Amino acid sequence: MMNWPEIAEALALWHDQQQRSLPWRSAPAGQRDPYTVWISEIMAQQTRVETVVDYFQRWMQRFPTIEALAGADQQEVLKQWEGLGYYARARNLHRAAQVVMAEHGGVLPVEAARLRQLPGIGDYTAGAILSLAYNQPEPILDGNVKRVLSRLADIDQPIDQPATLRRLWRLAREVVEAAAPDQVGTVNEALMELGALVCVPANPRCMLCPVSDHCQAFAQGTQNQRPVTSPKKQTPHYDVAAGVIWQGEIGASPVLIAQRPQEGMLGGLWEFPGGKLEPEDADLPACLRREILEELGIEIAVGAQITTVQHAYTHFRITLYAFHAQHLRGEPQALGCADWRWITLDELDTYPFPVTDRKIIQALRHAFSGRAPNTPSNPVAKPT
Ligand code: SF4
Repeated sequence: MMNWPEIAEALALWHDQQQRSLPWRSAPAGQRDPYTVWISEIMAQQTRVETVVDYFQRWMQRFPTIEALAGADQQEVLKQWEGLGYYARARNLHRAAQVVMAEHGGVLPVEAARLRQLPGIGDYTAGAILSLAYNQPEPILDGNVKRVLSRLADIDQPIDQPATLRRLWRLAREVVEAAAPDQVGTVNEALMELGALVCVPANPRCMLCPVSDHCQAFAQGTQNQRPVTSPKKQTPHYDVAAGVIWQGEIGASPVLIAQRPQEGMLGGLWEFPGGKLEPEDADLPACLRREILEELGIEIAVGAQITTVQHAYTHFRITLYAFHAQHLRGEPQALGCADWRWITLDELDTYPFPVTDRKIIQALRHAFSGRAPNTPSNPVAKPT
């Protein structure tokens, strides 16, 4: 039986002394601006806190209120998010802000059920907003909290199984319900902070832990075996070809960019068009010619390779081969994309791109900076 009141009190005391200073923590936990909590929590999902700081500050300068966010163009929202990944988070923030303006008078609801109806707000985010802004005893359960609770209760079942997740949510609720009413937000944030600073994945710092007296894994010596996870499936890998398609002369004419469909991965972002190598493709240039015909209805000649980019997404990895290409025939059509544009190299910075395409842009800039394209030091193979 866990002594949750004592655990909550110890966590709150430790948090008051040890919490990191972060820009979204200017007010005490439990009394924060709900918009600030919302943005920081969504940004921090799947992303390191150190990375989030700069993004958060830029975001709050550009979109200081829900109204400002709701009134922005989606492309600008995606541009502000560029590089943070998981772009559905940005699209959902934007859509949810518009719903809050249209249906809630510009104020985030203060009931969990109504908050969860907004795009992108699930149990975790609703719990974070309500506890960190209003001290409402709503639980939170992110990766850090799962790890801390699975060790405190010495859970020997895989934490990704539904029954274990339900148990962890119950434990997370028991902690906040045992907290003093004015310390609910502090206790929730302390759980996250403990997981980030002390109860870390490998070799937790149990000697520095404020709740080690209550930790069943520490008592059993099993802290390094917790949490238990299911065996990982092998992550698939794909080879992908992308084309920097020049309208005319390579390095001196506009290039073609395509916008990804709104729904789906990286939705709304722009990219150098291309796609996955299929078994029927003879090679990467053949793959690229096929993809461009299917996606945009034009014929191209594929030239020299520009760069190779490795990238790992959550469920798969890719090797992206970027090629120069030249437009041969046909007017582009949005057959497999949301939109397309011919733009100059200078205009690339005004569009939001995924991190892989930003690496291609870097390679282009490097290739064409301070020297004329197609010189011997910067050879571009004849298109085939
Ligand atoms: S005692 Fe160790 S394992 Fe237990 S909660 Fe604290 S840091 Fe984590």
